Amino acid sequence: MIDIEGLKREFDDCECGREHTTLLKEVCMGSGITCDTGEILKKNGFGKKLLLVADKNTLAAAEGIEDSLAAFDLRKKIYENLREATLAEVEKIKDILKDCDAVISVGTGSLNDICRKAAADLFKPLSIFATAASMDGFASYNAPLTDGRFKVTYPAKTPEVIIADTRILAAAPAFLKSAGFGDMVGKYVGLIDWQVSHIITGEYYCEKVAALTRSAADRIMSLADRVTAEDEESAGKVFEALLLTGIGMSFTKTSRPASGTEHILSHYWECKKLLEGKLSDFHGRKVGVATLSIMDLYGKLRDKKSVKAHKDKTDWEEVYADYGPLADEVRKLNTPSTITEGIEPALIEKSWEKIREIIASVPTKDEILAAMKKAGCPTEHGEVLVSDELYRSGLKFHPYMRNRMSLRRLCAMFD
Ligand SMILES: [Zn+2]
Ligand SMILES: [Zn+2]
Repeated sequence: MIDIEGLKREFDDCECGREHTTLLKEVCMGSGITCDTGEILKKNGFGKKLLLVADKNTLAAAEGIEDSLAAFDLRKKIYENLREATLAEVEKIKDILKDCDAVISVGTGSLNDICRKAAADLFKPLSIFATAASMDGFASYNAPLTDGRFKVTYPAKTPEVIIADTRILAAAPAFLKSAGFGDMVGKYVGLIDWQVSHIITGEYYCEKVAALTRSAADRIMSLADRVTAEDEESAGKVFEALLLTGIGMSFTKTSRPASGTEHILSHYWECKKLLEGKLSDFHGRKVGVATLSIMDLYGKLRDKKSVKAHKDKTDWEEVYADYGPLADEVRKLNTPSTITEGIEPALIEKSWEKIREIIASVPTKDEILAAMKKAGCPTEHGEVLVSDELYRSGLKFHPYMRNRMSLRRLCAMFD
């Protein structure tokens, strides 16, 4: 069980100079604890008027939760099946939440993201009741949301209370468990990108938070062959590791410790498919596949003994043409200056050896691929409903949809 207070103390007076605080007060995980949900919320000061947000699947998975909340004056918003977290849904939740004291989100992913943002906007207490270990955002601070077209990561809030019943986690469908694994292997790319940005742009970096993410990712890798097992112990361990990276994000108030260019690539696929009116595969399934393609590229970079660097050679007309109806959003992000502005090419050449070391510090693409296969993850873009054409354009153009430095984005500055 994660001792939140102990973890907070460990990060007191961190050498990076930043204060690492988190709103998270309690993580309650155990077998059959669904029936204690009401008591846990009461103990943590949740008011009587409670909004419960779920979809039909997650509510069915959390059997007994409504009985446990009998003492609350309960309002409910139950979706048929919410697959996309949009700003419009956040507004709908806010409309109900403004007359309530607090909110509990029963589920994962999109449900949590809209509640996270709504609760942050209205300064209301938030609890997440996790129904599957399918992604790592439970404790995170951000909420990636779309306006129906473009995906933006908004600052939101970390829940005060997270509840997970290992019976429910163990019984979750295997493909959701594999998705959680796919989300976790992305951390290796994220850690490379964060460190590279730190040495090239001077962006803030905390070694201790990075180490927390790293140990969580390594922990999951070692559980690869148990991920889809239906036993509660494995499910609990996987969930804990997913939680830790979320806590890392809440400590830094950015998604840096847990998401790199592989997440941007996955968002690119999503946005492009939305333009065609198509929904995407699950988050963690896409992130896993995106991780493999980025690690393949990074592995090749690692083999280069040196690089010849120059000013950013991006062909912007080509970029905007690719984004089509989204070009305005992308232009806004990259003007008046894009993230490579002001970076001296000589610094890249000088730092190359260090960059190679950073890449070498994480498992290789082949190691990650082998683990993903054990964990039942999809490993080809076709398996996550990404066409060859979308795959090719994504690799080339995804770095421009976020104003954030990554080793992939830096590639525009060397041959
Ligand atoms: Zn720190
Ligand atoms: Zn993720």
